[in-house]
Amino acid sequence: PLAALDDASLLKTQSLINGEWVAGGARFAVHDPATGALLAEVANLGAADTEAAIAAANAAWPAWRSKPAKERAAILMRWHSLLIKHTEDLARIMTAEQGKPLAEARGEVAYGASFIDWFAEEGKRVYGETIPTTDNNKRYIAIKQAMGVCAAITPWNFPIAMITRKVAPALAAGCTVIIKPAEQTPLSALAVAELAQRAGMPAGVLNVLTGDGEQSIAIGKALCESDVVRHLSFTGSTEVGRILMRQCAPTIKKLSLELGGNAPFIVFDDADLDSAVEGAMASKYRNAGQTCVCANRLYVQEGVYDAFVTKLAAKVAGLKLGNGFEPGVNLGPLIDAQALAKVESHVADALAKGARLVAGGKPAEGQGGGQFYEPTLLADVTSEMLCAREETFGPVAPVFRFQTETEVIALANDTEFGLASYFYSRDIGRIFRVGEALEYGMVGVNTGLISTAEVPFGGVKQSGLGREGSRHGIEDYVELKYLCLGDI
Ligand code: ADP
Repeated sequence: PLAALDDASLLKTQSLINGEWVAGGARFAVHDPATGALLAEVANLGAADTEAAIAAANAAWPAWRSKPAKERAAILMRWHSLLIKHTEDLARIMTAEQGKPLAEARGEVAYGASFIDWFAEEGKRVYGETIPTTDNNKRYIAIKQAMGVCAAITPWNFPIAMITRKVAPALAAGCTVIIKPAEQTPLSALAVAELAQRAGMPAGVLNVLTGDGEQSIAIGKALCESDVVRHLSFTGSTEVGRILMRQCAPTIKKLSLELGGNAPFIVFDDADLDSAVEGAMASKYRNAGQTCVCANRLYVQEGVYDAFVTKLAAKVAGLKLGNGFEPGVNLGPLIDAQALAKVESHVADALAKGARLVAGGKPAEGQGGGQFYEPTLLADVTSEMLCAREETFGPVAPVFRFQTETEVIALANDTEFGLASYFYSRDIGRIFRVGEALEYGMVGVNTGLISTAEVPFGGVKQSGLGREGSRHGIEDYVELKYLCLGDI
């Protein structure tokens, strides 16, 4: 699929350190999850290259932070325009290595780019404060300054947006960055880095280190242990988040963590059922269920339970599973064999414990060499089942039954996670009660789609630390400094 790019020079297989493309000594393979085909062999870097990238980012920092925010914004805006201009090629690269349908990949390019222009603007508004004095001989001022060299470790499910959501605020604030993209999707990261180069990003300001699973651990360790790196931003599993947090403890690094979720999706008796079904489809099956805000548990009140399951089943039957490059396909493959195995184990566990299979329920046949799983709907699911506790990260909708508002709030909050949640109701009192009672960083009310650059994205409990996007998203990349002026 990559032979058809309009601009073949967007296909980079080397890492970017200090403005130079670096081949490294070894390479690792990147595969198409829809076919299993080899797409490219990419530079497999390690700890020594990480030290070089840290040194380059540190050397580039003084000049970058000294530029007026408006000059940094101009480079970011050129970068943004280039992403938009090359949408088609970026989408092709993304579908090839990640598997999502081409239309979704195009959507992600736009979403990913939107963080760049948002933060290019926000960077101009990093205001400080003057504080009313309590001593006539003194004046108090607080200013905000770029934190320094920042590291970003990103996942494969949104190969561009998870990078720009971290890197754009860091760069806009005057920090320099080192990106370690997921080993499954380095090509999208490198294409975006190539466009940053074309936009005029100075050498060392934006660096990308690629590595396979094993080398990613070594690169991550070097980034965490460095006392030059001041901030680490990570999106991925809670398990890896804990490892990184531990590794960052000795250097007391600032952390932004966007970790796992276990999103409840609640449908009350008074909901608009068609709208709830539509929201469930978007929240559950987008990216084949592989987003951290995907509905993981669908709780439906008993009065509308059967009607909801029937309507959802009809929509699920309309999904077209296949290679993301084929027209009309709206459900792609899972990222790898491990992801497929997890989905299979969750479905097997639910069926063994008494769930009712309404649709799907097995890996799809006749789809070439990729990891495809049928869009699946399970009814009569209970809290004892694995899918109630763990994030399935696949196209499986487990539907639970509940009776009362109090009961469902307790069920929804009974998890160590707290990222996204959703509920459907037309009762204004209930909307406030439930919206306030859900222990989540984000609540979608009568919608299954909540993400956009302008709003604060993030979780509570073991779903993470900090917020990305919105005017708050740049705060993680600046330090507040207090200046006390005496002898006035
Ligand atoms: P997922 O479960 O979504 O694949 P992971 O948390 O395993 O998420 O991976 C997300 C990112 O973290 C990837 O870039 C991966 O290479 C990186 N990663 C995984 N394990 C480690 C580790 N021990 N140290 C540093 N980075 C890691």
